[in-house]
Amino acid sequence: MRFATVVRVLIERRSAARRKESRVNVRNSTITNCYKTAFLLALVVAGPARAAAVDRLSPWGAAASASPGPASPIGGPANGCLAGAAALPADGVGFQAIRLRRHRNFGHPDTIAFVMRLGRAAQAAGLAPFYVGDMAQPRGGPMASGHGAHQNGLDVDIWFNLDPKPTLAPLARDDVPLPSMLLAGMHAIDPAQFDARQVTLLRLAAADQRVERIFVNPVIKQALCRGFAGATDGGSAWLHKLRPWPGHDEHLHVRLACPAGATQCVGQPPIPPGDGCDASLAWWLEKHEAPTTPVPPRPPRPRLPKACAVLLTAG
Ligand SMILES: [Zn+2]
Repeated sequence: MRFATVVRVLIERRSAARRKESRVNVRNSTITNCYKTAFLLALVVAGPARAAAVDRLSPWGAAASASPGPASPIGGPANGCLAGAAALPADGVGFQAIRLRRHRNFGHPDTIAFVMRLGRAAQAAGLAPFYVGDMAQPRGGPMASGHGAHQNGLDVDIWFNLDPKPTLAPLARDDVPLPSMLLAGMHAIDPAQFDARQVTLLRLAAADQRVERIFVNPVIKQALCRGFAGATDGGSAWLHKLRPWPGHDEHLHVRLACPAGATQCVGQPPIPPGDGCDASLAWWLEKHEAPTTPVPPRPPRPRLPKACAVLLTAG
């Protein structure tokens, strides 16, 4: 295949995966355009090496079961794997797992326990059940589509849709409503979708001791900083864990800290102190023009920890 064709195929594959992943309307926001541009440039610069990297991801998606033995996150969220994973039940108090055919409903037992705690707390707060989306593959590792992270079993996507839900059989939940919380253009909250219910869910998740970070769209974080739907009643300190990140307008992405004693788990640097309602948030909301000069090539993705290669073939 010619180089240009490889790049085009990769772009199409990535686009299709993204459409399927989030069901977000393709909308032209400055931020997403910047990301698209950066991604395209990175593809062009990285070229065939990138193509090879994508193809190498598949063995992890093919792992059918968790590895035997004690649970252990290995490596980081974007460069790791997971030993001894547990599966999230399809149904629980306050939640329903969706898209189970994707086989991404596995996680560290702490992550499973967190989802169950959050479900109970959400139900006690009067919320309708939330949908739980991707966690990790049975042995973690890179995914062929949709995410750079979710590799070491400590990440979970929870959808913002808190409307009352029909009781569907687990495998009939592949195509459920997962609306964006933002208006078309992605510059403002959609008050018909996002209200005090979602703020409550975010508060409950942020209050959980095991939760280290919660990724939300910068526009959502900005609205919360401004007190949308009572978000700053009682102060803004709880917004500390909410990290602005593109996308994440229809789901929140929760990341747990490395469990105590998990010596192979690689954590992230701590979040800077404060509520994050500052220049670091404003940066995401400013207009950034696409670079006019070629961007330097991305450094090659670091190799997975050696223990992951062993894990892939264990048991
Ligand atoms: Zn996620």
